[in-house]
Amino acid sequence: MLMTDKMGIIMGMANRFSIAYGIAENLRANGAEIVFTVASEYFKEKIKPIVEEDFGDSPIYICDVSSDGSIAETFQTIEKDRGKQDFIVHSIAFSDKNELKGKYIDTSRENFLNTMNISCFSFVEICKYSKIVLNEEGGSIMALSYYGSQKVFPNYNVMAVAKAALETSVMYAASDLGENNVRVNAISSGPIKTLAASGVGDFSKILEYNRHTAPLKRGVTLEDVGKAAIFLLSDLSSGITGEILYVDCGCNIMGMKLQEN
Ligand code: NAD
Repeated sequence: MLMTDKMGIIMGMANRFSIAYGIAENLRANGAEIVFTVASEYFKEKIKPIVEEDFGDSPIYICDVSSDGSIAETFQTIEKDRGKQDFIVHSIAFSDKNELKGKYIDTSRENFLNTMNISCFSFVEICKYSKIVLNEEGGSIMALSYYGSQKVFPNYNVMAVAKAALETSVMYAASDLGENNVRVNAISSGPIKTLAASGVGDFSKILEYNRHTAPLKRGVTLEDVGKAAIFLLSDLSSGITGEILYVDCGCNIMGMKLQEN
């Protein structure tokens, strides 16, 4: 029960396959109280039965992170309704799936900006407005990234660039918020079959590649990510900020391994 007496906000749960769900489930099992935010009324209706079944009376707020003022307003409402929080999880990404295939250099200006806005700038705004809703003694903010920010993966394209910007934002936001005892980190998760991931062309091949190259000889699970999130959101990581923690069964350490036969 590492999260007893802790309360926090999870942004971006779409269904039970979402990484946000894996994180929320582990947080709840460790005693945390959770508030959810989703992009629209549509997603609110979709996750309502899941929340009722698995998270009791956790409230769901609508926060379309691409809309001006929505993050600050949502944090104000949460603070008013539920009081100060201990953590915030950003589990949000979006890009036009027509541009998550083919060549990166064919990315349109419109989708480049929209992808950056939803997948990266929203995180910067969350960090900026976290002071509205986080405890004055401090807190922990976490985002989700992917190794495509560091190495080329087929079709990840503009999302890779958004993740590189997100990872750098983690460092700079950690530097800005350290004086308030707010820690800012990210998990770089191995590939998991989710709604967002299904938009990436040939995603099943990336999954297969990871299973084959991972030192642990398996793909990463929602539980793997959820457990690592407990570490970053709890006092266990009290001295850690500005870090990208790889939860990918070791895939990122692999170069080329010679076949045994
Ligand atoms: P998901 O589809 O379950 O979650 C993505 C969420 O982003 C959805 O809930 C969606 O509604 C939300 N979203 C999109 N636009 C939004 C907006 N304007 N306002 C508010 N919310 C918005 O998929 P997921 O794979 O669980 O993605 C969660 C995070 O994990 C993303 O940052 C993703 O890039 C990252 N990630 C995923 C993988 C993977 O393989 N699935 C690997 C590494 C990192």
